[in-house]
Amino acid sequence: MERIGFIGLGIMGAPMAQNLIKAGYYLHVYDIDHDRTIAVASSGCSNASSAYHVARTSDIIITMVPDTPELEQVIWGENGIIDAVRPDSLFIDMSTIASSTAIRMHDALVAKKVQVLDAPVSGGQTGAEQATLSIMVGGSKQAFDRALPVLKVMGKNIVHIGGPGAGQMAKTCNQIIVALTIQGVAEALTLAKKAGIDAAKVREALLGGFAQSRILDVHGQRMLDNNYQPGFKTHLQRKDLNIALQTGNELAVPLPGSSQVAALLDALIARGDAELDHSALAKLMGEMSGID
Ligand code: NAD
Repeated sequence: MERIGFIGLGIMGAPMAQNLIKAGYYLHVYDIDHDRTIAVASSGCSNASSAYHVARTSDIIITMVPDTPELEQVIWGENGIIDAVRPDSLFIDMSTIASSTAIRMHDALVAKKVQVLDAPVSGGQTGAEQATLSIMVGGSKQAFDRALPVLKVMGKNIVHIGGPGAGQMAKTCNQIIVALTIQGVAEALTLAKKAGIDAAKVREALLGGFAQSRILDVHGQRMLDNNYQPGFKTHLQRKDLNIALQTGNELAVPLPGSSQVAALLDALIARGDAELDHSALAKLMGEMSGID
């Protein structure tokens, strides 16, 4: 069995790493937050003191960090992996970053004779815990085939989208749909509340019709409960729309819906709600409508 190094043990990374441990893999874990490293290591694996240390001892390195600057730190920063990766190892970044950054990362590591995949995920904390993530993969077929047994421990729907960066491009598309759907559900449930009808019954009725979606189901319930514990943090959703808007700009694709939701997320962040779940768009809608 290949030895796995796992870097980034937050809301997503911790349960993903734990599923690999349960499946019998030997794991070496690291998070910049030492307490998180120790918490995961205590469930049956060894802890590392740096990304460098992880790369030195692993056949497969997986990263699950918030954004591009953190990933750059893991790769090129002090005690980063770039001077430690072993030739013939496999690097899988599962964070959500821009496709262009994924390609830059790919080229730098391939020059070190490392196989590289971008493999962002969808399915949230529950998907990570239940190992039902949808995983969108970019990179060579050879690297994909090597990674597949490991990815199958963390996810169910695993699709090789195309070459380097293709997984991240698919994830950008995913995040547009997620953000706009959350905003749609938030607007609809706010309207129902303001009209004085039972918003819980509206959700129940709509779940059986054409407006049915997992977001109406899961986030609709969060909105009814006013429960905005993350989940997926508002500032990370904003980061993903930034990627979408930049990509749209580069490819000359107007994304008017994404622009509007990005502005609403900016308003939430400006109010101090960056760490709330992205479904907190409903909190903002409620406040703007004078009902919360
Ligand atoms: P999180 O903030 O809970 O966890 C990120 C972890 O990375 C933290 O524990 C942090 O300490 C660690 N970290 C940051 N910089 C580091 C570094 N230089 N070295 C080592 N560790 C470092 O975030 P999350 O919700 O787990 O999301 C992780 C990634 O997955 C993001 O790119 C996010 O967009 C994506 N994602 C999240 C969800 C979700 O529902 N939470 C769903 C799909 C995709």
